[in-house]
Amino acid sequence: MVGTELEQVADELRGADRLLLTTHENPDGDALGSLLGMHLLLSQLDKDGAMFLAADEFPLPHEYRYLPLEGVLNAPPADLDERLVVFLDCGNIDRMPADFLRAEGIRIVNIDHHHDNTRFGEVNLVDPLASCTAELVWRLAHELGAELTPPMAEALYVGLVTDTGRFMYRSTGAEAHRMAAELIDAGASPHAVNRQVFESLPFCRLELLARGLARVVRFDDGAITTTHLTRDDFAETGAEETDSEGIVDHLRSVDGTAVAVLVRDLLAEDRAGLRKVSMRAVDGEVDVSRIARGHGGGGHLQAAGFTTALEVPELLERVRAEVGAQRG
Ligand code: 5GP
Ligand code: MN
Repeated sequence: MVGTELEQVADELRGADRLLLTTHENPDGDALGSLLGMHLLLSQLDKDGAMFLAADEFPLPHEYRYLPLEGVLNAPPADLDERLVVFLDCGNIDRMPADFLRAEGIRIVNIDHHHDNTRFGEVNLVDPLASCTAELVWRLAHELGAELTPPMAEALYVGLVTDTGRFMYRSTGAEAHRMAAELIDAGASPHAVNRQVFESLPFCRLELLARGLARVVRFDDGAITTTHLTRDDFAETGAEETDSEGIVDHLRSVDGTAVAVLVRDLLAEDRAGLRKVSMRAVDGEVDVSRIARGHGGGGHLQAAGFTTALEVPELLERVRAEVGAQRG
């Protein structure tokens, strides 16, 4: 099934000279790594694989600013209707804020690994067993007979290392390590990526983490471990929204935790009163994507999120009940 989808998508890419590549809002390492990796792959095949990210995605999270994404478009290209649009790492077209990509008549190729992908493309390559979308780009590079250049390897490695939680999540299998080995042989440097992505953070990240950890609340004998970052926390530390990335992972490291939850106030003026909820499940017991979908969001079995207008106490009550229902 997925083999056929891989061939179909490879055919679509072969048949197009001009494309427009994009990903989901608030792009993470896999979103940006697979976007850039695909762009470099298409360039190698002498294709125009322009990248698009909405203007309000900038500035990107600190750790990804070093990626060579200078050419990214922030507005629709004039020849949009002649381009094949390729979505990477986007489970649901509603996670793309630019309406012009939802217009009639646009041909979409959808390349993703979210199990709840809505298959919104004309052609879909959706493999929930892939550790990251970058893995699918890597498979496509093989299918298309492309050479893995050092910049391509580096970009795909960023997707791989971030979406596998540095090779620690359940999604990490032998294939992820085979891919890593091949990318390293092709010129990716794990040490350099680690320094850029995980060890070049602004100090305010540490301050925001400290606030998050100081305010941890545990429910149900620690099965649910939560914290909340307020608008003031961001203002007082000088942190940006993306600086909260990774905090939720600290919460799930405590023995006895089934689900970790980070709630953070959204900062944009037009999103005042809204909160973003990030959930992480520890084992196969709870499917957090189900809870997220119930609130209009989505994600993976063990990492999912949604946006809500619920006040924090009510929100946590609801999440507790929903986790409780799944745990029986
Ligand atoms: P995070 O908690 O790091 O923001 O997101 C974890 C996972 O959930 C990612 O795979 C992300 O794509 C997904 N996710 C987060 N928020 C949303 C949302 O609002 N809608 C959907 N469909 N997925 C989300
Ligand atoms: Mn991903």
